[in-house]
Amino acid sequence: MNTDVFAAYESNVRRYGRSFPTVFKKALGATIWDEAGKPYIDFLVGSGALNYGHNDPNIIAPAIEYLVGENILLSLDMYTVAKREFIEVFVDSILKPRGLSYKIQFPGPTGTNANEAALALARKYTGRSSVMAFTNAFHGMSLGSLAVSGSASTRELGGVARHDVIRVPYDGYPSQAFDSASYIDWVLGDPGSGIEKPAAIILETIQAEGGLNTASAAWLTEIQRICRKHDVVLIVDDIQAGAGRTGEFFSFEFAKIKPDIVCLSKSLSGSGSPFSIVLISPDLDIWNPGEHSGTFRGNNLAFVTAGAMCKLWSDGQFTTGVERTAVKLQTHLDSLVAKFPDCIEQKRGRGLMAGLKCRSQAIVGRVHDVAFENGLLIESSGPNRDVIKVLPPITITDDELDHGISILDHALKEQANGH
Ligand SMILES: *Cc1c(COP(=O)(O)O)cnc(C)c1O
Repeated sequence: MNTDVFAAYESNVRRYGRSFPTVFKKALGATIWDEAGKPYIDFLVGSGALNYGHNDPNIIAPAIEYLVGENILLSLDMYTVAKREFIEVFVDSILKPRGLSYKIQFPGPTGTNANEAALALARKYTGRSSVMAFTNAFHGMSLGSLAVSGSASTRELGGVARHDVIRVPYDGYPSQAFDSASYIDWVLGDPGSGIEKPAAIILETIQAEGGLNTASAAWLTEIQRICRKHDVVLIVDDIQAGAGRTGEFFSFEFAKIKPDIVCLSKSLSGSGSPFSIVLISPDLDIWNPGEHSGTFRGNNLAFVTAGAMCKLWSDGQFTTGVERTAVKLQTHLDSLVAKFPDCIEQKRGRGLMAGLKCRSQAIVGRVHDVAFENGLLIESSGPNRDVIKVLPPITITDDELDHGISILDHALKEQANGH
């Protein structure tokens, strides 16, 4: 496999290419093939950006039709037919059935664009500068998002000061014995706490990059209550956990909360095409026209594929299929935990957003390598990179899921046998 051109010309910053040293060419569903025709089951799915697998025909067919029709591809934030249809289907298939009413902002196409817009709006709305963010959070690579992220190596990037962030413990940090929600409630109410009232609390319901740490429904409900009590904007960064990853469209549905602002990206286009939206409670929508912008706010091809993805959620067979796959995945992981206690400490995550916390980074590294050799793409996460991230497409077939898990099982067995 010729990778010379990458080594010669691509920046040293490249990572996944080193982690999976082959050249990929084709993909369909949960399978991706390299140039030599070797298939791999994809449990990495573009770090959560391909929840619907590769080239789902329900999503790609409308895009092909759109492309051959001399339709609009880029439109800034002008009105287009494709954008109107996306808004209509998003409202009808996603928001209304869940009793949600949000205004939709179209920022630039990346996740961090959405978070920056959300943070800016919360600051404008409240007139306050600081934001509360959690241990092990990850919110993106631009400065405002970096500032609210938890990881030391991420935060040090940029080489400038990251002001106006109050770090607070996530649910279960440092242990389940600590009640972080009560702590936050207390410091916000105590004039002696030394902590000023923030514009917003920004959180992930499952910390994907942070090691698949999950927030409980009770904790999320409590954080929402605290935000309302202290007049603080609640922002849910649903960039990785949303768009179906947990088995529900939004990752917070199980907790029955209604965040003031929700950021979506990654799998939102359903196709891997870059696309982000910020959902804003109508009373918070105090933007002036054109006050926030971005050249690629109008990626019409993404509107088309996102619309096709949203339509899937109106189909009862689709949603029960996703729920069933989530249960199947969890059952598989429970059996791996039971089988390999020397490698795996615990199962983490929820629905199809799962992880296996291992006993060391070295185990995860070796499992990754053996899995890759045998045709499975997995990645690690967490501050110590000792969590195997298991993110199959939510539309994966039973055969593909069983096959991927059997490769993972084999890789774990080699570690357990001391290879
Ligand atoms: C990936 C991710 C982001 C950043 O998205 P980009 O498109 O890489 O800017 C933000 N928050 C979460 C939770 C993510 O997983």
